[in-house]
Amino acid sequence: MDILLHKLGVSVNHLAIIHHTLIKNYPDYKKENQNVEEIGLELFAKQLYAGGKLGRNVQRQMILADIFQYIFIGRGYFSATENRQNFNKFLELILRVANLLIMQENLSVDVKLRNIVMEELEKNIDNADFFEPGYDSIQDNFNALKHYNGWIVGNKGREFENIFDSLLPKRIGLAVELIVYAMLHLKQYGYVVPLLLNQRIIRGGNIPNETNSIDYLAPPDFLLFREKGQVFGVEVGSAKDDQNTRFSLVTSIPLFSVRLGDHRQPQPFRCGKCGKWITYSNFIIKGLISGSVSTDTDQIDADEFLSNGLTGIEENEIVFYGEGDDYDGNRRELRYHFLCVKNQDIVLNRLEGRTRHHTKGLILPVPFVKGLEILKED
Ligand SMILES: [Zn+2]
Repeated sequence: MDILLHKLGVSVNHLAIIHHTLIKNYPDYKKENQNVEEIGLELFAKQLYAGGKLGRNVQRQMILADIFQYIFIGRGYFSATENRQNFNKFLELILRVANLLIMQENLSVDVKLRNIVMEELEKNIDNADFFEPGYDSIQDNFNALKHYNGWIVGNKGREFENIFDSLLPKRIGLAVELIVYAMLHLKQYGYVVPLLLNQRIIRGGNIPNETNSIDYLAPPDFLLFREKGQVFGVEVGSAKDDQNTRFSLVTSIPLFSVRLGDHRQPQPFRCGKCGKWITYSNFIIKGLISGSVSTDTDQIDADEFLSNGLTGIEENEIVFYGEGDDYDGNRRELRYHFLCVKNQDIVLNRLEGRTRHHTKGLILPVPFVKGLEILKED
Protein backbone atom coordinates (compact mmCIF):
# COMPACT_ATOMS: atom_id res chain seq x y z
CA MET A 1 0.00 0.00 0.00
CA ASP A 2 2.91 2.36 0.74
CA ILE A 3 4.04 2.51 -2.85
CA LEU A 4 0.51 3.11 -4.14
CA LEU A 5 -0.03 6.10 -1.86
CA HIS A 6 3.48 7.34 -2.64
CA LYS A 7 2.89 7.24 -6.39
CA LEU A 8 -0.48 8.96 -6.04
CA GLY A 9 1.31 11.76 -4.17
CA VAL A 10 3.98 11.98 -6.87
CA SER A 11 1.29 12.36 -9.54
CA VAL A 12 -0.33 15.24 -7.66
CA ASN A 13 3.07 16.84 -7.16
CA HIS A 14 3.91 16.47 -10.85
CA LEU A 15 0.71 18.23 -11.88
CA ALA A 16 1.38 21.02 -9.41
CA ILE A 17 4.96 21.54 -10.64
CA ILE A 18 3.86 21.95 -14.28
CA HIS A 19 1.10 24.32 -13.26
CA HIS A 20 3.18 26.53 -10.98
CA THR A 21 6.13 26.65 -13.35
CA LEU A 22 3.91 27.80 -16.23
CA ILE A 23 2.27 30.45 -14.07
CA LYS A 24 5.72 31.81 -13.32
CA ASN A 25 7.11 31.68 -16.87
CA TYR A 26 4.18 31.97 -19.29
CA PRO A 27 2.12 35.19 -19.02
CA ASP A 28 -0.86 34.01 -21.12
CA TYR A 29 -1.14 30.85 -19.07
CA LYS A 30 -1.08 32.93 -15.92
CA LYS A 31 -3.84 35.15 -17.28
CA GLU A 32 -6.09 32.24 -18.20
CA ASN A 33 -5.49 30.73 -14.80
CA GLN A 34 -6.74 33.96 -13.25
CA ASN A 35 -9.95 33.51 -15.25
CA VAL A 36 -10.24 30.02 -13.83
CA GLU A 37 -9.75 31.37 -10.30
CA GLU A 38 -12.45 33.99 -10.89
CA ILE A 39 -15.06 31.32 -11.57
CA GLY A 40 -14.88 30.68 -7.84
CA LEU A 41 -13.50 27.36 -6.73
CA GLU A 42 -14.20 27.43 -2.99
CA LEU A 43 -17.10 25.00 -3.05
CA PHE A 44 -15.48 22.75 -5.62
CA ALA A 45 -12.29 22.63 -3.57
CA LYS A 46 -14.27 21.37 -0.58
CA GLN A 47 -15.00 18.29 -2.65
CA LEU A 48 -11.28 17.49 -2.83
CA TYR A 49 -10.44 18.04 0.82
CA ALA A 50 -12.61 19.30 3.63
CA GLY A 51 -11.62 19.92 7.22
CA GLY A 52 -14.13 17.77 9.02
CA LYS A 53 -17.69 16.54 8.70
CA LEU A 54 -20.49 19.06 8.89
CA GLY A 55 -23.43 19.74 6.62
CA ARG A 56 -23.52 18.77 2.97
CA ASN A 57 -20.32 20.40 1.81
CA VAL A 58 -17.88 19.38 4.50
CA GLN A 59 -17.62 15.62 4.21
CA ARG A 60 -14.00 14.63 4.56
CA GLN A 61 -14.70 10.92 5.08
CA MET A 62 -16.42 10.68 1.67
CA ILE A 63 -13.58 12.46 -0.10
CA LEU A 64 -10.92 10.28 1.49
CA ALA A 65 -12.88 7.20 0.50
CA ASP A 66 -13.23 8.32 -3.13
CA ILE A 67 -9.54 9.15 -3.47
CA PHE A 68 -8.63 5.82 -1.90
CA GLN A 69 -11.04 4.03 -4.23
CA TYR A 70 -9.65 5.82 -7.25
CA ILE A 71 -6.39 3.89 -6.84
CA PHE A 72 -8.15 0.57 -7.37
CA ILE A 73 -11.28 1.40 -9.33
CA GLY A 74 -9.79 4.22 -11.37
CA ARG A 75 -6.41 2.71 -12.27
CA GLY A 76 -6.02 -0.78 -10.85
CA TYR A 77 -7.83 -2.54 -13.68
CA PHE A 78 -4.94 -1.90 -16.05
CA SER A 79 -2.70 -4.15 -14.02
CA ALA A 80 -5.56 -6.63 -13.51
CA THR A 81 -6.18 -7.25 -17.20
CA GLU A 82 -2.60 -8.20 -18.12
CA ASN A 83 -3.06 -11.88 -17.42
CA ARG A 84 -4.82 -14.30 -15.08
CA GLN A 85 -2.03 -14.14 -12.52
CA ASN A 86 -2.24 -10.36 -12.31
CA PHE A 87 -6.02 -10.54 -12.11
CA ASN A 88 -5.79 -12.82 -9.10
CA LYS A 89 -3.20 -10.52 -7.54
CA PHE A 90 -5.59 -7.61 -8.04
CA LEU A 91 -8.42 -9.45 -6.28
CA GLU A 92 -6.14 -10.48 -3.43
CA LEU A 93 -4.92 -6.90 -3.14
CA ILE A 94 -8.47 -5.57 -2.87
CA LEU A 95 -9.49 -8.10 -0.22
CA ARG A 96 -6.36 -7.45 1.81
CA VAL A 97 -6.65 -3.68 1.50
CA ALA A 98 -10.22 -4.10 2.77
CA ASN A 99 -8.67 -5.80 5.80
CA LEU A 100 -6.41 -2.76 6.28
CA LEU A 101 -9.44 -0.47 6.18
CA ILE A 102 -11.24 -2.68 8.67
CA MET A 103 -8.21 -2.42 10.96
CA GLN A 104 -8.14 1.36 10.58
CA GLU A 105 -11.59 1.43 12.15
CA ASN A 106 -10.15 -0.18 15.29
CA LEU A 107 -9.24 3.38 16.27
CA SER A 108 -12.83 3.46 17.54
CA VAL A 109 -11.82 1.18 20.44
CA ASP A 110 -8.04 1.59 20.65
CA VAL A 111 -7.68 4.91 22.42
CA LYS A 112 -3.89 5.00 22.42
CA LEU A 113 -3.63 4.35 18.70
CA ARG A 114 -6.43 6.86 18.02
CA ASN A 115 -4.58 9.59 19.85
CA ILE A 116 -1.32 8.85 18.03
CA VAL A 117 -3.08 9.11 14.66
CA MET A 118 -4.91 12.30 15.64
CA GLU A 119 -1.65 13.88 16.78
CA GLU A 120 0.11 12.97 13.53
CA LEU A 121 -2.69 14.36 11.39
CA GLU A 122 -2.84 17.60 13.32
CA LYS A 123 0.93 17.96 13.22
CA ASN A 124 1.37 17.24 9.51
CA ILE A 125 -1.61 18.91 7.86
CA ASP A 126 -1.91 22.71 7.82
CA ASN A 127 -4.44 23.87 10.36
CA ALA A 128 -6.32 25.89 7.75
CA ASP A 129 -6.89 22.68 5.79
CA PHE A 130 -7.34 20.26 8.63
CA PHE A 131 -10.01 22.34 10.38
CA GLU A 132 -12.47 23.81 7.90
CA PRO A 133 -12.31 27.62 8.35
CA GLY A 134 -15.56 29.08 9.60
CA TYR A 135 -16.64 25.93 11.41
CA ASP A 136 -15.15 26.40 14.88
CA SER A 137 -17.03 23.48 16.37
CA ILE A 138 -14.90 21.05 14.35
CA GLN A 139 -11.68 21.98 16.16
CA ASP A 140 -13.50 22.03 19.50
CA ASN A 141 -14.81 18.53 18.90
CA PHE A 142 -11.42 17.34 17.77
CA ASN A 143 -9.85 18.60 20.99
CA ALA A 144 -12.60 17.05 23.07
CA LEU A 145 -12.05 13.70 21.35
CA LYS A 146 -8.36 13.86 22.26
CA HIS A 147 -9.37 13.85 25.92
CA TYR A 148 -11.94 11.09 25.58
CA ASN A 149 -10.74 7.71 26.75
CA GLY A 150 -13.60 5.52 25.66
CA TRP A 151 -14.99 3.61 22.71
CA ILE A 152 -16.91 5.07 19.83
CA VAL A 153 -19.25 2.18 19.16
CA GLY A 154 -23.06 2.26 19.11
CA ASN A 155 -24.18 4.50 21.97
CA LYS A 156 -20.71 4.70 23.48
CA GLY A 157 -19.05 8.01 22.60
CA ARG A 158 -21.88 9.00 20.31
CA GLU A 159 -21.06 12.71 20.75
CA PHE A 160 -17.72 12.08 19.00
CA GLU A 161 -19.22 10.17 16.11
CA ASN A 162 -18.96 12.97 13.52
CA ILE A 163 -15.47 14.16 14.30
CA PHE A 164 -14.16 10.59 14.45
CA ASP A 165 -15.96 9.71 11.24
CA SER A 166 -14.30 12.63 9.47
CA LEU A 167 -10.82 11.25 10.15
CA LEU A 168 -11.10 7.97 8.23
CA PRO A 169 -12.10 7.01 4.68
CA LYS A 170 -15.75 6.04 5.19
CA ARG A 171 -15.34 3.69 8.12
CA ILE A 172 -16.14 0.07 7.17
CA GLY A 173 -18.39 1.27 4.33
CA LEU A 174 -15.44 1.59 1.97
CA ALA A 175 -14.10 -1.83 2.93
CA VAL A 176 -17.52 -3.36 2.25
CA GLU A 177 -17.75 -1.72 -1.19
CA LEU A 178 -14.30 -2.98 -2.14
CA ILE A 179 -15.07 -6.49 -0.91
CA VAL A 180 -18.31 -6.60 -2.93
CA TYR A 181 -16.37 -5.34 -5.96
CA ALA A 182 -13.89 -8.18 -5.59
CA MET A 183 -16.61 -10.77 -4.95
CA LEU A 184 -18.50 -9.73 -8.09
CA HIS A 185 -15.45 -10.95 -10.02
CA LEU A 186 -15.26 -14.37 -8.41
CA LYS A 187 -18.18 -15.65 -10.46
CA GLN A 188 -19.19 -14.88 -14.00
CA TYR A 189 -22.09 -12.58 -13.23
CA GLY A 190 -21.32 -10.36 -16.18
CA TYR A 191 -19.04 -7.44 -16.95
CA VAL A 192 -18.70 -5.36 -13.81
CA VAL A 193 -18.93 -1.60 -14.20
CA PRO A 194 -18.05 0.12 -10.95
CA LEU A 195 -19.87 3.43 -10.54
CA LEU A 196 -18.53 4.05 -7.06
CA LEU A 197 -16.78 7.19 -8.26
CA ASN A 198 -19.75 8.44 -10.30
CA GLN A 199 -22.34 9.44 -7.81
CA ARG A 200 -24.00 12.03 -10.02
CA ILE A 201 -24.78 11.40 -13.68
CA ILE A 202 -25.85 14.72 -15.15
CA ARG A 203 -28.13 15.49 -18.06
CA GLY A 204 -27.33 18.99 -19.25
CA GLY A 205 -28.68 20.95 -22.17
CA ASN A 206 -30.00 24.43 -22.58
CA ILE A 207 -32.03 24.65 -19.42
CA PRO A 208 -34.34 27.68 -19.05
CA ASN A 209 -33.01 30.10 -16.48
CA GLU A 210 -36.08 29.95 -14.29
CA THR A 211 -35.39 26.28 -13.53
CA ASN A 212 -32.89 26.18 -10.78
CA SER A 213 -32.56 22.45 -10.47
CA ILE A 214 -30.13 20.28 -12.37
CA ASP A 215 -31.26 17.04 -13.90
CA TYR A 216 -29.10 14.23 -12.60
CA LEU A 217 -29.31 10.60 -11.62
CA ALA A 218 -27.71 8.97 -8.61
CA PRO A 219 -26.64 5.62 -10.04
CA PRO A 220 -26.21 2.37 -8.13
CA ASP A 221 -22.72 1.29 -7.02
CA PHE A 222 -22.26 -1.18 -9.89
CA LEU A 223 -23.75 -2.11 -13.24
CA LEU A 224 -23.56 -5.63 -14.59
CA PHE A 225 -23.51 -6.01 -18.37
CA ARG A 226 -24.78 -9.52 -19.04
CA GLU A 227 -25.42 -11.74 -21.99
CA LYS A 228 -28.35 -11.03 -24.32
CA GLY A 229 -28.24 -7.34 -23.54
CA GLN A 230 -29.28 -7.71 -19.92
CA VAL A 231 -28.16 -4.90 -17.63
CA PHE A 232 -28.59 -4.88 -13.87
CA GLY A 233 -27.74 -2.27 -11.28
CA VAL A 234 -26.31 -3.44 -7.96
CA GLU A 235 -26.52 -1.26 -4.88
CA VAL A 236 -24.44 -2.10 -1.82
CA GLY A 237 -26.35 -1.82 1.44
CA SER A 238 -30.03 -1.06 1.68
CA ALA A 239 -31.45 0.41 -1.48
CA LYS A 240 -31.73 4.19 -1.24
CA ASP A 241 -35.36 4.19 -2.26
CA ASP A 242 -36.02 7.52 -3.95
CA GLN A 243 -32.73 7.67 -5.80
CA ASN A 244 -32.85 4.08 -6.92
CA THR A 245 -36.47 4.13 -8.01
CA ARG A 246 -35.82 7.20 -10.11
CA PHE A 247 -32.73 5.63 -11.67
CA SER A 248 -34.72 2.52 -12.59
CA LEU A 249 -37.64 4.49 -13.97
CA VAL A 250 -35.50 6.76 -16.12
CA THR A 251 -33.12 4.11 -17.45
CA SER A 252 -35.31 0.97 -17.36
CA ILE A 253 -32.38 -0.77 -15.70
CA PRO A 254 -33.56 -3.04 -12.90
CA LEU A 255 -31.75 -2.67 -9.61
CA PHE A 256 -31.23 -4.95 -6.70
CA SER A 257 -29.37 -4.45 -3.47
CA VAL A 258 -26.76 -6.70 -1.94
CA ARG A 259 -25.07 -6.62 1.44
CA LEU A 260 -22.13 -8.17 3.12
CA GLY A 261 -23.53 -10.81 5.43
CA ASP A 262 -26.98 -11.14 6.87
CA HIS A 263 -29.05 -7.99 7.50
CA ARG A 264 -29.40 -8.86 11.18
CA GLN A 265 -25.70 -9.53 11.51
CA PRO A 266 -23.93 -7.65 8.77
CA GLN A 267 -20.27 -8.33 8.09
CA PRO A 268 -17.58 -7.65 9.00
CA PHE A 269 -17.92 -8.57 12.67
CA ARG A 270 -16.59 -6.82 15.73
CA CYS A 271 -15.18 -9.20 18.31
CA GLY A 272 -17.68 -9.25 21.16
CA LYS A 273 -14.87 -9.09 23.70
CA CYS A 274 -12.13 -6.66 22.57
CA GLY A 275 -14.34 -4.65 20.22
CA LYS A 276 -11.82 -4.88 17.40
CA TRP A 277 -12.91 -6.04 14.00
CA ILE A 278 -12.45 -9.59 12.78
CA THR A 279 -10.50 -9.48 9.53
CA TYR A 280 -10.68 -12.08 6.79
CA SER A 281 -8.02 -14.73 7.16
CA ASN A 282 -5.26 -15.62 4.81
CA PHE A 283 -6.81 -19.06 4.33
CA ILE A 284 -10.14 -17.58 3.21
CA ILE A 285 -8.70 -14.90 0.93
CA LYS A 286 -6.41 -17.37 -0.83
CA GLY A 287 -9.17 -19.99 -0.91
CA LEU A 288 -11.75 -17.68 -2.48
CA ILE A 289 -9.38 -16.72 -5.25
CA SER A 290 -8.16 -20.25 -5.95
CA GLY A 291 -11.72 -21.56 -5.78
CA SER A 292 -11.17 -23.92 -2.85
CA VAL A 293 -13.46 -21.81 -0.64
CA SER A 294 -17.03 -21.32 -1.90
CA THR A 295 -18.48 -17.83 -2.31
CA ASP A 296 -21.89 -19.24 -1.32
CA THR A 297 -21.21 -19.60 2.38
CA ASP A 298 -20.65 -17.08 5.16
CA GLN A 299 -18.27 -19.21 7.20
CA ILE A 300 -16.30 -22.40 7.17
CA ASP A 301 -15.82 -24.76 10.04
CA ALA A 302 -12.50 -24.55 11.89
CA ASP A 303 -13.12 -27.04 14.71
CA GLU A 304 -10.35 -29.24 13.40
CA PHE A 305 -7.93 -26.54 14.39
CA LEU A 306 -8.03 -27.62 18.02
CA SER A 307 -7.49 -31.31 17.38
CA ASN A 308 -5.13 -31.36 14.42
CA GLY A 309 -4.22 -27.83 13.62
CA LEU A 310 -5.19 -26.63 10.17
CA THR A 311 -2.50 -25.91 7.69
CA GLY A 312 -2.29 -22.28 6.79
CA ILE A 313 -4.41 -21.03 9.68
CA GLU A 314 -2.96 -19.10 12.60
CA GLU A 315 -4.54 -19.21 16.02
CA ASN A 316 -5.19 -15.47 15.92
CA GLU A 317 -7.34 -15.91 12.81
CA ILE A 318 -9.72 -18.38 14.41
CA VAL A 319 -13.12 -17.06 15.42
CA PHE A 320 -15.35 -18.46 18.12
CA TYR A 321 -19.04 -18.08 17.24
CA GLY A 322 -21.19 -18.85 20.22
CA GLU A 323 -22.04 -17.78 23.74
CA GLY A 324 -19.28 -15.94 25.54
CA ASP A 325 -18.90 -13.13 28.05
CA ASP A 326 -18.81 -9.89 26.09
CA TYR A 327 -16.97 -6.63 26.83
CA ASP A 328 -19.65 -5.56 29.31
CA GLY A 329 -19.64 -8.95 31.03
CA ASN A 330 -22.95 -9.94 29.48
CA ARG A 331 -23.34 -13.46 28.12
CA ARG A 332 -24.07 -13.17 24.43
CA GLU A 333 -23.91 -15.27 21.29
CA LEU A 334 -21.49 -13.35 19.12
CA ARG A 335 -18.36 -13.76 17.05
CA TYR A 336 -15.25 -13.46 19.19
CA HIS A 337 -11.56 -13.73 18.43
CA PHE A 338 -10.74 -17.21 19.68
CA LEU A 339 -7.76 -15.77 21.54
CA CYS A 340 -10.00 -13.25 23.31
CA VAL A 341 -12.35 -15.81 24.88
CA LYS A 342 -10.56 -19.16 24.89
CA ASN A 343 -10.10 -19.13 28.67
CA GLN A 344 -13.67 -18.20 29.58
CA ASP A 345 -15.52 -20.99 31.43
CA ILE A 346 -18.51 -20.87 29.13
CA VAL A 347 -16.28 -21.18 26.10
CA LEU A 348 -14.17 -23.96 27.61
CA ASN A 349 -17.34 -25.96 28.31
CA ARG A 350 -18.25 -25.77 24.65
CA LEU A 351 -14.74 -26.49 23.42
CA GLU A 352 -14.46 -29.52 25.67
CA GLY A 353 -17.83 -30.94 24.66
CA ARG A 354 -19.76 -30.33 27.90
CA THR A 355 -22.64 -28.53 26.17
CA ARG A 356 -25.50 -29.63 23.92
CA HIS A 357 -23.74 -28.33 20.82
CA HIS A 358 -22.51 -30.59 18.04
CA THR A 359 -19.62 -28.32 17.19
CA LYS A 360 -17.03 -26.33 19.08
CA GLY A 361 -18.12 -23.16 17.34
CA LEU A 362 -14.77 -22.44 15.76
CA ILE A 363 -15.09 -20.82 12.35
CA LEU A 364 -13.46 -18.64 9.75
CA PRO A 365 -15.83 -15.98 8.38
CA VAL A 366 -16.17 -15.77 4.60
CA PRO A 367 -17.15 -12.44 3.02
CA PHE A 368 -20.55 -13.58 1.81
CA VAL A 369 -22.46 -11.22 -0.45
CA LYS A 370 -26.12 -11.71 0.30
CA GLY A 371 -28.41 -10.93 -2.62
CA LEU A 372 -26.19 -12.23 -5.39
CA GLU A 373 -27.78 -15.68 -5.10
CA ILE A 374 -30.70 -14.46 -7.21
CA LEU A 375 -28.35 -14.07 -10.18
CA LYS A 376 -27.41 -16.99 -12.37
CA GLU A 377 -23.94 -16.96 -13.82
CA ASP A 378 -23.71 -15.99 -17.47
ZN1 LIG B 1 -11.15 -9.85 20.25
